[in-house]
Amino acid sequence: MDHIKLRGIGVSPGVSLGEVYLTERMIFMRRKESISVSQVAEEMERFEKAVLRTREQLVQIKDEIKVTIGEEHSFIFEAHLLILKDKSMISGVERIIKEEKVRAEWAISRIHDKYRKIFESIADEYLRERQSDVSDVLSRVYRNLDPTEEKLKETKGDNILVAHDLLPSEAATSLSRGDILAVALDIGGQTSHTAILARSLNIPAVVGLRDITRRVKNGDFIIVDGTVGEVIVNPSSAIRKEFEGKKKKYDDYQKELRKTAKLSSRTLDGVDFKPMANIELPEEVEQAISLGAEGIGLFRSEFLYLQSQSLPSEEDHFEIYSRIAENAFPSPVIIRTMDIGGEKYMSQMNMEKEPNPALGLRAVRFSLKDHNIFRVQLRAILKASVHKNVKVLIPMITEIEEIVETKGLLEDVKSELRRENIKFNENIPLGAMIEVPAAAAITDLLVKEVDFLSIGTNDLIQYYLAVDRANELVSYLYKPLHPSILRILKYIIETSIKNGTEVTVCGEMAADPLSALVMLGFGLKTFSMNPIFIPKIKKTLRSVEYKNVRKIVQKAMSLRTAQEIEEYIIEKIIRMYPQAFLMKQAN
Ligand code: PEP
Ligand code: MG
Repeated sequence: MDHIKLRGIGVSPGVSLGEVYLTERMIFMRRKESISVSQVAEEMERFEKAVLRTREQLVQIKDEIKVTIGEEHSFIFEAHLLILKDKSMISGVERIIKEEKVRAEWAISRIHDKYRKIFESIADEYLRERQSDVSDVLSRVYRNLDPTEEKLKETKGDNILVAHDLLPSEAATSLSRGDILAVALDIGGQTSHTAILARSLNIPAVVGLRDITRRVKNGDFIIVDGTVGEVIVNPSSAIRKEFEGKKKKYDDYQKELRKTAKLSSRTLDGVDFKPMANIELPEEVEQAISLGAEGIGLFRSEFLYLQSQSLPSEEDHFEIYSRIAENAFPSPVIIRTMDIGGEKYMSQMNMEKEPNPALGLRAVRFSLKDHNIFRVQLRAILKASVHKNVKVLIPMITEIEEIVETKGLLEDVKSELRRENIKFNENIPLGAMIEVPAAAAITDLLVKEVDFLSIGTNDLIQYYLAVDRANELVSYLYKPLHPSILRILKYIIETSIKNGTEVTVCGEMAADPLSALVMLGFGLKTFSMNPIFIPKIKKTLRSVEYKNVRKIVQKAMSLRTAQEIEEYIIEKIIRMYPQAFLMKQAN
């Protein structure tokens, strides 16, 4: 039989070959089943019992997961317990049973549909995918109406899990058993729980395959390539061989990564540098550290505002920040206050549409407009600072006044905490992001106001070159090595160093070997990036001598174009340090 190739989204890299283990698709009731008035009380009791049973199961799974794969993954179930407590959801089901005199299954299906519709209309991917948590809880209650119905079957071991979608609880329980080689799903996206979990457990995963559950049957042999997002069903022996080779290459690469992670972060001539991680979810800390991160250089706190339709409480913030601080301790954790606004998260925040969102009420501008929301976040960050490794970073600073106002607020919140006898770090370091050209130009003034600076090259390039960072039509102009960008970076880095102020780069440039070398040449020592790039950057920086890189970069500064600069530096570096660019991403 000819093989079939299916394209999806690779959400966890690596290659696995094995037999299909197909899980049942969760189907809610599609037909209305009426009951008589006398049966209503019984039906209500049935539903109540199912909710109770669900609660017991969730507590039990939560405790088990804590032991098998770690506390940070057990929080999914904490969230599920909270969903189960949601009064409007539970009373919604009860009302339908009572008023419409229908079976509980039908009532749950109706409520499920209602939530699905609400979630589907949400623009943000992360938030939209939280629908799976609601589905998970409702389907668990649904199954518990008739507890004899089967749950996810035990696998024989060493299988590839194929499903329409994996409920977060199914993902956690099945992937943690250690006998699933890969996952392939009909639906899903980058930020689904399955994706996050698969990445942290190093299980290759491809989602968004549309109809893989219809294309395979139990026992079929398939290949899952999570790096490129491809699944091959019934491969020929030649294809099988090719992918076995790929798998070996990827596994060897992983081993090399882990080895590099343990090596010192030092150039050949003994200059120390510091790789740090940019993360968006608390679950990412562990993997970041295992890849060699010496701290969290940027925690984008936005996800807190995106995971529920109401604003996060101080407790919600505090729980997440302390968890990250504890898991990373004693390494530093830089929490960036919300970078919300613009077009990104408008629908969740109920904000007005702006004509030019990138230049609008974004980040610190939004925070300072509504002190109440900002204060909640600052209080939680301060409370989490008892761990002493927490720093706070303010995004999109344009002028000194914003720093002054933020400091005033921070002092206010500190006095409030003192009055309440709540402990915090009195000297919590405060930093400013440099991502607006105006802030870059006043680095000499900013260093006098803050404890550290973090350069957000993603936005700095966008605003400096007037090139929308997300617009394909002008992406050819988005050049990190444009001489203007290098000049301004050199100025920011050198001015900070001269003043004795810590400076970090946390934009994508830190993850590009050539750009990282250029910035090392300016004197930069701290590079914060998506953790998967840390080993590669470490390898590059460990392969060179700081003093020579400085000279090469200095010479390159007189060149006229990004291309000339790139060619010149690559040529010089490769000639002197042939190892510098050798580590490729595996695929
Ligand atoms: C940046 O702008 O470089 C940055 C790190 O922030 P974000 O990508 O979150 O805008
Ligand atoms: Mg930015």
